[in-house]
Amino acid sequence: MAIVINEDQGMEHQLEERIGLECPYCGVYAHMSPQSVPDAASLLRDRPKHVGLVYKCDACDAPVFLRFAVREYKENRVELYRNFIELERPKEKFSFSYLPKHTEVLFREALSCYSNNNFNAFASMCRRASTSAFDALGEGGKLRAFEEVMVAQDIAGIDDESFAPIKSVLFGSGQHEDLPLLNRAQAGILLEVLKDMFYQCFVRHGKLARAIKVRRFFVSESNDDSLQSA
Ligand SMILES: [Zn+2]
Repeated sequence: MAIVINEDQGMEHQLEERIGLECPYCGVYAHMSPQSVPDAASLLRDRPKHVGLVYKCDACDAPVFLRFAVREYKENRVELYRNFIELERPKEKFSFSYLPKHTEVLFREALSCYSNNNFNAFASMCRRASTSAFDALGEGGKLRAFEEVMVAQDIAGIDDESFAPIKSVLFGSGQHEDLPLLNRAQAGILLEVLKDMFYQCFVRHGKLARAIKVRRFFVSESNDDSLQSA
């Protein structure tokens, strides 16, 4: 079923076929309602191949821009394919403050590539981010990280063949040009695996060390108090 923009009534509303997606602003998976629809008369005159519509996120009211390909121009109506391109993608989040500075810079850029659907640029930046992380971890760091990733593969139940490109990106020792080409699904796995690896190697350590430091601080404070009140 196509989306139809009609010369007389504007967009034909089909509420049961509303669009649902992850909002780039509030991060909620929400329904999107059409907010700004191009004028059918000008589309019929100019006949562009793609048409942009503004939807409104039902959760936070933010405008969400979507681009549709035109399926067909008819006498007084324009039919669009239902598939669309999100012009703004939700940003991937991570506890960046626990990463070594160099790794943080590279991983932020990796996530930016991922959010923009540039999956091979993403893979290249993952290689750079992981190499910088191994350097920061010091001797034995790469091996430790490798073991964490093996555990992640086991937990996720991913077979060796599907996992090979992910391992190659993170741990391969060849030139940058030798990186395997990744599709969307593989890039998604790489994203989760690398986030988990960084979590295990840096975030978990940092959070735990900070939490214990705070506990010790309060214990020593209360000891001081009890000494004073004695
Ligand atoms: Zn929203």
